[in-house]
Amino acid sequence: MDRFPTTRTTAPKQKPADDTLSFGKVLTDHIFLMNYEEGRGWFNPRIEPYGPLSLDPATSVLHYGQAIFDGLKAFRGDDGQIRLFRAERHAERFNRSAQIMCMPEVPVDIIRASFDALVGVDADWVPRKAGTSLYLRPTIIATDVMLGVHPAHSLLYFLILSPVGSYYKEGVKPVKILASDTHVRAVRGGTGEAKTAANYAQSLAGQRDAAAAGYTQVLYLDGVERRFLDEVGTMNIMLRIGDEVITPPLAGTILDGVTRASTLQLMRDWGLKVTERAISIEEVMEAGRHGRLAEMWGTGTAAVVSPVGTLGYKGEDILINGGQTGELTQKLYDAIVGIQYGRTNDPHNWTSVVPAAA
Ligand SMILES: *Cc1c(COP(=O)(O)O)cnc(C)c1O
Repeated sequence: MDRFPTTRTTAPKQKPADDTLSFGKVLTDHIFLMNYEEGRGWFNPRIEPYGPLSLDPATSVLHYGQAIFDGLKAFRGDDGQIRLFRAERHAERFNRSAQIMCMPEVPVDIIRASFDALVGVDADWVPRKAGTSLYLRPTIIATDVMLGVHPAHSLLYFLILSPVGSYYKEGVKPVKILASDTHVRAVRGGTGEAKTAANYAQSLAGQRDAAAAGYTQVLYLDGVERRFLDEVGTMNIMLRIGDEVITPPLAGTILDGVTRASTLQLMRDWGLKVTERAISIEEVMEAGRHGRLAEMWGTGTAAVVSPVGTLGYKGEDILINGGQTGELTQKLYDAIVGIQYGRTNDPHNWTSVVPAAA
């Protein structure tokens, strides 16, 4: 028996070929929904055919952006099993975002059950080609219908799924990033630590300006002194100077990335010297000028790791590792991907097998 009431679609969509998949353009056949009302709690969890939501134009999320999401992936292993990567940690972070955005938490076991149930129903949508996966996007939006700024009393949790292609179709590829001295992402006391819609809306202008200057992504510096590295806006940042790996600390302005935590754990397992500390852009540029900036990379669910080949700041470009993917960056990528597809052992029990749907 299904744990959640399930209405299956009578008109399944045509699935695209695995080698045509990119990111987030194709959605699967079903959606998981659950409502919240103050005084009643979360209720009516259900799986329905995927389709549009009907919202009153005065729905508060449309005006004031009280919305959170998370992003994780399911992988089809060589053994045919479908595995989620760090579902529990993603569920816990989702609740951290909820706290910051004045939303009620969802019990972690219900979040995890929603992942298993929906991926189970749409299991055929988990692509098979090497490097592909199924992206899960749990979301909560404020659904009060009223034009006044307030934490909502009614909310909607939903989960949608999207088959995604390999981020690196032609091998891991270094990017060119710009440390911005004009745009900031977050300040302490703000919402930088939450995966909330507004953070991405406000990142568009910085991204536009970086693209116009010939860079792929923005590296944000702290919002107060504009000196210390924060993160890339969809990825956390790490770098290696000599034998020390450095990444900015979790101080309220950056996201507590699951890939960040996973790569830090692996490097500590390997006995590397890993430091979470504030690091200024001058220190990084200076190391770069003297050939001591050995590697730099971003971490995030979409790419796992994204090597930085060029770092720009105030008109100066530093070429890192000759613009090539560094050894440690590649090693981290291979290690995480091996665990995700169930090819190597999983010493920290990061993956969980999705049970087949009834
Ligand atoms: C999602 C995200 C990341 C990466 O987090 P992961 O859990 O590793 O996917 C980093 N920074 C921001 C702002 C993000 O939204």
